[in-house]
Amino acid sequence: MDFKLTRFAPTPSGFLHLGNLYSFLITKILAENTGAKILLRIDDLDRDRYRTEYVQDIFDTLDFMEIGYDHGPKTVEEFKKEWSQIHRMSIYLEALEKIRERKLVFACDCTRKKIQQMDSSGYYLGHCQVRNIPLERNETCWRMDTFDTDFIKVKTYSEGVKSYVLPEDSAFFIVRKKDKLPAYQLTSVLDDIHYSVDLIVRGNDLLGSTLDQQIVAKGLDLVSFQEATFHHHTLLKGPKNKKLSKSEGATSIQFLRKEGKKPADIYRILGEMIGAKETIQDFDSFKAILGA
Ligand SMILES: [Zn+2]
Repeated sequence: MDFKLTRFAPTPSGFLHLGNLYSFLITKILAENTGAKILLRIDDLDRDRYRTEYVQDIFDTLDFMEIGYDHGPKTVEEFKKEWSQIHRMSIYLEALEKIRERKLVFACDCTRKKIQQMDSSGYYLGHCQVRNIPLERNETCWRMDTFDTDFIKVKTYSEGVKSYVLPEDSAFFIVRKKDKLPAYQLTSVLDDIHYSVDLIVRGNDLLGSTLDQQIVAKGLDLVSFQEATFHHHTLLKGPKNKKLSKSEGATSIQFLRKEGKKPADIYRILGEMIGAKETIQDFDSFKAILGA
C-alpha cells in the first residue's frame, strides 16, 4: 500500500514520554514502508492544559532523538505564526454550523459530577437529548446524537475494512465545549482533512476517537476522512503493565535527557519495555524488530 501523508499529532499538555516516542517510531516505520511523508501536527486548542514549554519539548525531543519529519513547524515561533489551530478556527466554526443545521447534536449542561451520579458506569448515556435545551444557551456543550449510530466502518492498515459498534464510553461525544470552542474530535478530523492525511497511526486507546471521528465525517459527508486508513498500535506499558502517563516524570524523554541519557540509551529502554530479545540502540534496530 502507498500513502501520501501520515502525521505525528502530540498534544502539548505535558512533556513527551516514552509512549509518545513509541508511537512516533511506529508512525515513522509505516511512513517508510508506504512512502508516506510525515506531518508534525500539534493540537493547541485545549487551552486549559496548553503550555508553550510543552510545544518546545516536542521540537526538543524530536531533535534529540533525530526523528525527522517532512512538514510542519520547526520552532515555537513558526508554530504560532503558521500552524496553530487558531488559524483554522473558521474551518471549525463552519463545520459546527453545518452540524447545527443538520441537527446532529443536542445541548447538554451536565457537570462531570452529575454525569457520575446519573449512571454508575460514569458514562454519559444521552440524558439531555430529550430535554431540547437551546443550542445557544450559555454553559452548555454540544454532544453528537449517537442514539441511532449503526456499525462504523474503518479502513485498517493490516486487517482490511473492519466494522465496529460504538462503545458506551465513546457515545455522545462533545463537538463544541461549554466555552463554545470546537472540541478535539471535531478539530482532529478537520485538521487531517485540511492537510490531506491519508494514513493515521495512533495507540489503540484512541480507537474510540477514531469511531467518533468517523461519525463526524459521515455526518458532514467528509469522504476523504472516511476513506483514510488507520493503524491502532498496542500501547507501551509501564512497570506492572500500567498505562504510561504524562504525569509520571520518570518516563518523560526530557527527564531521561537531563539524566544524561543518549538516544541509544532511550532506544535500549524502549527495547526492554517491549521485551525485545536483541538490544535496540537506534531506529534501524527498532525497525528491524517491529518491522514490516
Ligand atoms: Zn447532559
